[in-house]
Amino acid sequence: MTKMQGFYYVETQGQIHECRLRGILKKTDRKDNCIVGDVVEFSEDHSITKVFERKNIIHRPLVANIDYIVIQFSAIDPKLDYERINVLILNSYYYKIKPLIIINKIDLIEEEDIEEIKNNLHYLKALDIDLFFVSTTENIGIEEVSSYIKDRITAFGGPSGVGKSSILNLLQKSVTLKVGETSRKLKRGKHTTRATTLLHLKEGGFVIDTPGFSSVDLPEIKNVQELIDLFPEFSVDEQCRFSNCIHVNEPGCAVKDAVERGDISKERYEFFLRCYEKLKTERWNKL
Ligand code: GDP
Ligand code: ZN
Repeated sequence: MTKMQGFYYVETQGQIHECRLRGILKKTDRKDNCIVGDVVEFSEDHSITKVFERKNIIHRPLVANIDYIVIQFSAIDPKLDYERINVLILNSYYYKIKPLIIINKIDLIEEEDIEEIKNNLHYLKALDIDLFFVSTTENIGIEEVSSYIKDRITAFGGPSGVGKSSILNLLQKSVTLKVGETSRKLKRGKHTTRATTLLHLKEGGFVIDTPGFSSVDLPEIKNVQELIDLFPEFSVDEQCRFSNCIHVNEPGCAVKDAVERGDISKERYEFFLRCYEKLKTERWNKL
């Protein structure tokens, strides 16, 4: 736990307030009753009186309300792994965190290689996932990333060697905020801590310092419906002939028709089929 000796550090407009948790909130006796990233309300005497509903939560490290997950890869060295991009997108949706994709080390490739990568990742548009090409060594594209994640909580993921530390060094603030004047009014603020779970960004906002999202594994998807729900682009207007269609072998499948027409990317549909086969043989059949 990142609280220090029972203190919680709440940030409001660049100031940090040392607070305690009101007894009623402790009652649940759970270590996640108030955690890093929580949006809270605190009173004059600096007790946290309310924890607002979370939009998401991850457990290692324990952080709530993450706005973005950066899925970072490098153009080469190590080589771009398209399958793993899809696995990480799936994980982002599973944890209900909006993904964006960064391709680093573009100083090592040509303009036409960038076009080729864009082509290979054309399906990101339908998913509303933004794509950034950067070079940390040449300082290309860093400002765009910086303003995108400004004032937000962002986690970074991706394989090692792609330049995550390098980009975090550019984005991160080197001096931490001072403890500010305490305020007498009831305030709302983001819960942060003195421990280094969240690192301040230069422009405001935070990154999570433990890049937890590097998984090569599929998340704990329990059944085929849950898998389908992690492919937002499969929600087409047309109905499948069978209401319980799982879009694999059924006739009259609206998703397969959309793939045929090119409205759903073939790569994404094939990735879905690979996930389905893998989960079915390795997990669901064993339940
Ligand atoms: P991490 O494992 O993802 O944290 O990656 P690092 O930040 O440690 O970087 C791995 C290697 O890639 C280091 O040797 C960096 O110098 C190199 N590197 C990082 N960013 C770039 C870049 O934009 N261009 C080039 N050519 N090399 C880079
Ligand atoms: Zn179908």
